[in-house]
Amino acid sequence: MKKYFEVDEWQVIENDFDKNYNRVTESVMSLGNGHMGLRGNFAENYTGDSLQGTYIAGVYYPDKTIVGWWKNGYPEYFAKIANAANFIGINLQIDGTEIDLNKVDFSNFKRVLNMKKAFLERSFTVELENNRVEIIEKRFLNQKNKELAAVKYQVRPLAQDAEIVLIPHLDGDVKNEDANYNEFFWEGLKKKNNKGKALLSMKTRKSDFVVATAMNWDLNKKERKVELLTGPGDENYVGNKITLKAAAGEKIELNKYIAVCTSRDYEENLVSKKAEKKAAAAEFRGYEDLFTEHKEAWAKIWQESDIKIKGDPEAQQGIRFNIFHLNQTYTGHDPRLNIGPKGFTGEKYGGLTYWDTEAYCLPFYLATHSEDVSRNLLLYRYNHLEKAVENADKLDLEGALYPMVTINGEECHNEWEITFEEIHRNGAIAHAVKDYVDYTGDEEYIKEYGIPVLAQISRFWADRAHFNSHKDKYMILGVTGPNEYENNVNNNWYTNRIAVWTLNYTLKNLEKIKKNDPAKYEEWISELELEDSELELWQDMTEKMYYPYLEEFDVYSQQDGYLDKEQKLVSDLKEEDIPLHKNWSWDKILRSPYIKQADVLQGIYYFKEDFDRASIARHYDFYEPRTVHESSLSPCIYSLLAADLEREEKAYQLYLRTARLDLDNYNTDTDDGLHITSMAGTWMSIVKGFAGFKVQNDQVEFRPFLPEAWDGFNFMIIFRGRRIKVNVEQEETTFYLEAGADLKIKVYGQDYLLNQKEELVVEK
Ligand code: BGC
Repeated sequence: MKKYFEVDEWQVIENDFDKNYNRVTESVMSLGNGHMGLRGNFAENYTGDSLQGTYIAGVYYPDKTIVGWWKNGYPEYFAKIANAANFIGINLQIDGTEIDLNKVDFSNFKRVLNMKKAFLERSFTVELENNRVEIIEKRFLNQKNKELAAVKYQVRPLAQDAEIVLIPHLDGDVKNEDANYNEFFWEGLKKKNNKGKALLSMKTRKSDFVVATAMNWDLNKKERKVELLTGPGDENYVGNKITLKAAAGEKIELNKYIAVCTSRDYEENLVSKKAEKKAAAAEFRGYEDLFTEHKEAWAKIWQESDIKIKGDPEAQQGIRFNIFHLNQTYTGHDPRLNIGPKGFTGEKYGGLTYWDTEAYCLPFYLATHSEDVSRNLLLYRYNHLEKAVENADKLDLEGALYPMVTINGEECHNEWEITFEEIHRNGAIAHAVKDYVDYTGDEEYIKEYGIPVLAQISRFWADRAHFNSHKDKYMILGVTGPNEYENNVNNNWYTNRIAVWTLNYTLKNLEKIKKNDPAKYEEWISELELEDSELELWQDMTEKMYYPYLEEFDVYSQQDGYLDKEQKLVSDLKEEDIPLHKNWSWDKILRSPYIKQADVLQGIYYFKEDFDRASIARHYDFYEPRTVHESSLSPCIYSLLAADLEREEKAYQLYLRTARLDLDNYNTDTDDGLHITSMAGTWMSIVKGFAGFKVQNDQVEFRPFLPEAWDGFNFMIIFRGRRIKVNVEQEETTFYLEAGADLKIKVYGQDYLLNQKEELVVEK
């Protein structure tokens, strides 16, 4: 853990540049707008340690799979979001000296991520032998016009006149660091270089995505010389070399306008033209005008998704940082896109989709955005249903098995114990349908899109399970639960439980449609070829599923034989053992009783309503002391359950484990990129945990408490066309219906009517 950034409620500030920490800072200072994203790299050339990263949503390369021992069913490739042309580049020379912060002396360095207005600003003074020169760089990725980005670069000699060379450029000669065969993922298509503007069009190999990057620039000084550069031996490079004289004290300002268009959105032959036109139009409008629309888009985002924490600036910065990055990563404008565990901030996990989206991120988007955003997350899986059926078929199974990791619906993961066995992911995808429909009341969604997904997942469970006539029970063998520190186990309770839940929910909804819309019911029955015998089998499975149980502790067992393991607790571990995945052999981890992340408790969290409080407490008290939380997705689930059990201090302590995970580099892995999906878990810990917010039976409920370290917190919930403000204080909570029709809400189990524009104060 490192307290490196200055604490500020709206900004993340790096005051002195630590070269050795640069990769972490680059991750933290990433910008994104759902369409594209980039790490917080410098605009000018930098030869120190850095991961130059620019990523365009949905543009991937199918990197040929690498495995030790090929197994039938493994995917051919692991998709990687391709590191794309660096478009922020502006090289700088002053009186013949190349400005490279790895080589020149400088002072007054500051890099600031402004979260409120979503821009990155960097300033420093270059200390040359005969001169001092002040540099200020600002950049943003337009949140409204998502294909646009802009960089403002200012240079001001302080001591005396200087010759300045500025080289705004586009550089496509970049590689993914995380590439299996060190291949270059792109091929150049077209380059154009003119004074004041340039274009670079490239195509990903194999996957054939065309990405055209166009730049235009303007400069506040007319006396200048412009030469065209095609790059020092680089194939995919275009740049303008601008030479000028600046007087001492004179501020030179270069604005670079960038447009990035892809064949995902336009016909291949139109992509370059689109990019060129958009970059030219951006130049015409100018930096300030573009920035104004960008700021306004962010003001709306903050109005709807901000959480204010009083009396704890570190916590305030932490939660805003998380909300900021979630909104940079996924904006819901395109149902073909999803949320990678690292977003656009690094290359780990390939920028692909995991069950994290449904299990952790969906609640955030449901409560802070209009319904179509969450609906697009669901449609992503609906649109991949056919591929999920093919995926199950590859394993000789009926129904749909959604991939563990995917970009286009095809499985990318290639470790048998996860690819073939971590099948619980199907359950989260099914459960997301319920979460969405319960929240929005959009029953039509189930009828039109939910049923085929639910039915094909149910069909998968039915085929994957088998009937054990000896025990007169159904069982699911050879699985990996959410706890990846156990593989190939039998009857993982969570998997069995969520399978049964899916079957039940599917049957219940089919019944409902049969009653309310018999024609639609018949349509689905015939399209999905559902026979009565199949539905009866599903019903039978829901009644006769086997659940391993630990009589001695009166709790469900994580899987068959969990108690056979040497029963040690996390408190028995030595400091040098932690984290286990860095310090222990895999063999030792697998034999140990230690649990990587919420597993049984993931199920208790999903199906809380089926357990009484004493039972939840028993499960919590059994599993929590055995859990090492070595996935960042884990503490939030425990925090939520602790809040539910009114163990307020525990809930707060667990929340702290992820609240500033990346800001303080808690797990020393932020250099790889940020933990985007776990950021949603932190949001949940506050809104669903501390404020006890949930939607049940079409009703909004709260059970708030205030962590002792805070003076208060407030946030907004969007629910079925309403905007509800909630302000939690020690003694009371105030609710305010800012927009939408009057609403009945439940607070601490009591019903209240919330009238529009009227405050409702409820005492604790
Ligand atoms: C976790 C998975 C998660 C993945 C991506 C792993 O460490 O165990 O549950 O889906 O990271 O976040």
